[in-house]
Amino acid sequence: MSRPAPVTRQRSLILLILLLLGCGFLTTSLVSYYTALDSIRAGIIDTELPLTSDNVYSEIQKDLVRPILISSMMSRDTYMRDWILAGEQDPAQITRYLQEVQEHYGTVTSFLVTEQSHTYYQAKGVLKQVEASEPRDAWYFRVRDMQAPYEINVDIDMANDDRMTVFINYKVFDYQQRFIGATGVGLTVDAVVKLIDTYQQRYNRSVFFVDTEGRIVLTGASGGPMGAKVGQSIGELPELANLMAKLPLPSSGNFEYREQGRGHFLNVRFIPELNWYLFVDKPENAALDELRYSLYLNLLICLLVTLVVISLVSLALRRYQARITALATTDQLTELLNRRGFDLLAVQALQEARRNNSPLCALLLDLDNFKALNDQQGHLAGDAVLRGFASDLRDNLRKSDIICRWGGEEFILLLKDTSPEQARELGEKIRQQTERNRVLHNGTDLQITTSIGLAHLQAGDALDQLIARADRALYRAKQSGRNRLCEETA
Ligand code: GH3
Ligand code: MG
Ligand code: MG
Repeated sequence: MSRPAPVTRQRSLILLILLLLGCGFLTTSLVSYYTALDSIRAGIIDTELPLTSDNVYSEIQKDLVRPILISSMMSRDTYMRDWILAGEQDPAQITRYLQEVQEHYGTVTSFLVTEQSHTYYQAKGVLKQVEASEPRDAWYFRVRDMQAPYEINVDIDMANDDRMTVFINYKVFDYQQRFIGATGVGLTVDAVVKLIDTYQQRYNRSVFFVDTEGRIVLTGASGGPMGAKVGQSIGELPELANLMAKLPLPSSGNFEYREQGRGHFLNVRFIPELNWYLFVDKPENAALDELRYSLYLNLLICLLVTLVVISLVSLALRRYQARITALATTDQLTELLNRRGFDLLAVQALQEARRNNSPLCALLLDLDNFKALNDQQGHLAGDAVLRGFASDLRDNLRKSDIICRWGGEEFILLLKDTSPEQARELGEKIRQQTERNRVLHNGTDLQITTSIGLAHLQAGDALDQLIARADRALYRAKQSGRNRLCEETA
């Protein structure tokens, strides 16, 4: 069975940690994001928008419902009906009546148009005769023909600084239910418009009224959704196509739709007194921007933490790996390279020498009669001599040279860019130094000599051949009396 290389194993470990941290962080971030999203959504849909709707509705009631009641009472007023049925004798009487209504209830205007004479009465007196051909009077003929008992008509009141005015047009019947005219009051919706504006500006939501056909009937000062004007149908706004698909005609409820990639929450409420729908709409961006920002921040922090953890882990792994490698390639007693370490570096050195065509020499060293030293002085003394000898070797060599404990009391040196003459000189120096040196152990001066075999790299040499030649030279050195350097040339 083959085991994966350490680097591959390290990579998959780091990948696994990355995966675990990434999944963990991502899951917690997204779960908390979606939980918060849900609760914000629920807050908007269940509380915020209905609350706005309630407030606007109660304001509307104050502003509109009361005038509807007043108009309703006017239309049922027996005095008014009798006066019409009696042939509209004295206009001053009905004018006084209208004036009373207007002043008492604080409406902008009050009016009566009769069917028999088509006369338009106001608080100030007779205004004019209504005519079917006159577009401005169209409302009267519409009211006369409609089924419902009354209508609410939002119009610009030209007699009143062009203010947005709501007319409540009530049908008046005689006692046999025959249509005899239209009456009612007009009022400004300034308070409602102001309230709508407050909600739109302060709370970033859009508030407007739509009739049963989907036409916009009342908005804030700046217009309806997408700047639509009163009278426009919401179906005409291309931006709201997504909403129209869900809500072709207005109906009460909560809706979510998208407009140009932006999510919207919408609360629609039917106001029976007006026969209108109140739309309260909030774009989700404003509500969720902060949340999204905190999600991004969260993810960024998670990413940073992951990166820090990953770099710490890979640093630790690399250190550990380096230490393992060092241990595996170092001899513990002498701290020189062991054979495995030597093999790794020697192959490189040989390639380099071949590539650069530079000389390379090998010195194989074997301590003389080391067994006898061990036997007489003990194993520990032998160890001390080996350590001392190794340290002397190190002192004599350049950084680029390769020193290895070949085994037992044998050492090998690979000298880069070194000619056989230079190698011989160095070997001789080492031999003499070893002969001279004394190693102090437990109060005893230990002395040793070394035999050395020298060989140089020849064309077409493999590492084994070079070492074999050095070994033969060493053998000759031993044979010819020890404590000497022999060279093998062929
Ligand atoms: P020669 O001059 O022919 O090389 O004789 P020698 O005694 O040095 O050679 P031999 O190979 O017979 O003996 C080598 C000895 O080195 C035998 C072994 O016990 C000893 N030795 C090997 N490794 C160590 C070590 O790590 N510590 C110590 N103290 N002795 C070791
Ligand atoms: Mg030996
Ligand atoms: Mg020996």
